[in-house]
Amino acid sequence: MEIDTIAAISTPVGEGAISIVRLSGPDSIQMANQLFKGKHLMEAKSHTMHYGKIVDPTSEEIADEVIVSIMRAPKTFTCEDVVEINCHGGLIAVQRILEMVLEQGARLADPGEFTKRAFLNGRIDLSQAEAVMDVIQSKTNKAMNVALNQLDGKLSRLIRKLRQELIETIAHVEVNIDYPEYDDVEEMSHELMQIKTKYVEGEIKKLLQVAEQGKILREGIKTAIIGRPNVGKSSLMNSLVQEERAIVTDIPGTTRDVIEEYVNVRGIPLKLIDTAGIRETKDIVEKIGVERSRKMLQEADLVLFMLNNNEMLTDDDRMIFESLEQLNYIVIINKVDLERKIEMEEIMKLSKGAIISTSLINDQGSTELETALSTMFFSNELSSDEVTYVSNIRHISLLKQAKASLDDAQHALALNMPLDIVQIDVTRTWELLGEIIGDTASESLIDQLFSQFCLGK
Ligand code: GDP
Ligand code: ZN
Repeated sequence: MEIDTIAAISTPVGEGAISIVRLSGPDSIQMANQLFKGKHLMEAKSHTMHYGKIVDPTSEEIADEVIVSIMRAPKTFTCEDVVEINCHGGLIAVQRILEMVLEQGARLADPGEFTKRAFLNGRIDLSQAEAVMDVIQSKTNKAMNVALNQLDGKLSRLIRKLRQELIETIAHVEVNIDYPEYDDVEEMSHELMQIKTKYVEGEIKKLLQVAEQGKILREGIKTAIIGRPNVGKSSLMNSLVQEERAIVTDIPGTTRDVIEEYVNVRGIPLKLIDTAGIRETKDIVEKIGVERSRKMLQEADLVLFMLNNNEMLTDDDRMIFESLEQLNYIVIINKVDLERKIEMEEIMKLSKGAIISTSLINDQGSTELETALSTMFFSNELSSDEVTYVSNIRHISLLKQAKASLDDAQHALALNMPLDIVQIDVTRTWELLGEIIGDTASESLIDQLFSQFCLGK
């Protein structure tokens, strides 16, 4: 297969002071050199940066002042020759430069193609490639750390270890089949199989446990703010969103629309459900009331149930408490600056969740709310660096399948089935785990995965 040279804009469109056109492939340095007025790039050392101008070779017009980075194979992201043209921000200059590079014969990169090349050239494995995508998309610092850990190969190392354990048992069984006369091998194999499958299953279980929290980090906790009209839902949302602006805007890749939806509370991403409804001055929530709240509850991972300190409980409130039974929720008693009319004792009986008092109009109580949220979602165990996080949906699904096939193996062992039957399940587990790191992934799966990347990565 002939490898061509690809190019794309690798910074978010329309954001930041600098935009980068990235090239990768055998002709990338030569192509950049055709357009560059400055040092002769063909002679440039690897991993050096050069100041100059990009000039249209036909019209001799200057497109932009740039800094060009030259990185020669193999120590580059893709393991190929890579050139990065850093030009001024704004769409026009960078688009023009990309066009000029394409006129030189480069091909516009497919989404994820740079990362795909890194994978195909063996620099990273599949779970690391997916981590690149997660880093781009991660919404909070915590989620970013999970992705970076994965990029670092932590998950891959563990998966390799588990596969090694399994392959040892498979080898044992092979010996067994080839040399049936050794009875002791047979016995050992059975016991070994039991120990190893149990061990591997335990490790997978651990991964899946933290995965649940990893999912939360990645996708955000779907949060519903509910309560009767006028209790302070909009005020709460505004106060949460304001906090968000202060924390999140400097994370690269987050856009305004994302910020509208996601609220970052001490690194926990809350995804507010139905923000439009709450925001409007004449809330739809307020019109449709309880019925709508119920609907929101079906979707929610977390409910913030607001009550007005200054009003007595209603039957609607009591009904909402009932429908909260199976959910994670926090009760917020707002307007504590006003006279207490609400029946606190009854609330303590009705509520299984934390109860927080706030006076949003005076900016009071948000620290308590934040603390309640972080205790709810992050046990100490999870914030420790020792834990291996899995946050990718594909990985989680493969781990679940692997666990199921180990269950089958254990079941077969318990029934004293012949080892070559048990081995089918163990081999299947080994393959499933291999798919996580890309060792047994089929080509179409790989294509599909990489096409999910943003263009330019
Ligand atoms: P929503 O209808 O549940 O969305 O409630 P809003 O957030 O729109 O608030 C309704 C009214 O209560 C507004 O006039 C707010 O200024 C006021 N309000 C919100 N929080 C407090 C509070 O803590 N104390 C007092 N006294 N008023 C508040
Ligand atoms: Zn409102």
